[in-house]
Amino acid sequence: MKYEPIDIKCPDCGALAKFEEPFEFLSKNDVRPDETKPTHPWGGWTVLERFPSQISWKAPSTSSQYLRGGGDTGKGGYPLLTNGLVQCSHCHSNRKHKLNWPADAYWQWEVRGQLLWAWDKEHAQIILNFVKETARPSRRLYSLKYIPSHFLSAKVRDLVVQKMERSVNA
Ligand SMILES: [Zn+2]
Repeated sequence: MKYEPIDIKCPDCGALAKFEEPFEFLSKNDVRPDETKPTHPWGGWTVLERFPSQISWKAPSTSSQYLRGGGDTGKGGYPLLTNGLVQCSHCHSNRKHKLNWPADAYWQWEVRGQLLWAWDKEHAQIILNFVKETARPSRRLYSLKYIPSHFLSAKVRDLVVQKMERSVNA
């Protein structure tokens, strides 16, 4: 399993920064990407420390060995998109950060009281293109499925497009 960094507002300077998952979870068939990084067996996974000098692996205290979507909800398994690293090229911040999504999202737009967000600029562009379509194709793409219909109604469409274009094309 490979992770792309996501775009967040730097907690130190507010500029565009990256949030990195600190571990890669490799299954048996995955090729180990970096032989020099420490790894740990955990359930059926091999956990690779991507930033060993900053964050080392500690297995969750629960016995359930699975990965789950973000959010520190106190359930079992290891929560992705929760504890990681912020890396900012503006203020050179490079430290541990607990993700607070979607409040941390760099790409976010408030539209009539609801928050629309994107993982990164590319995702924002995909959403924007989709919202702009008058005859929208079905939401086959995984990256579009989460969008609440609130943002897609004819009433707010122009507002969404206007707000998104302002930041995506900036
Ligand atoms: Zn910064």
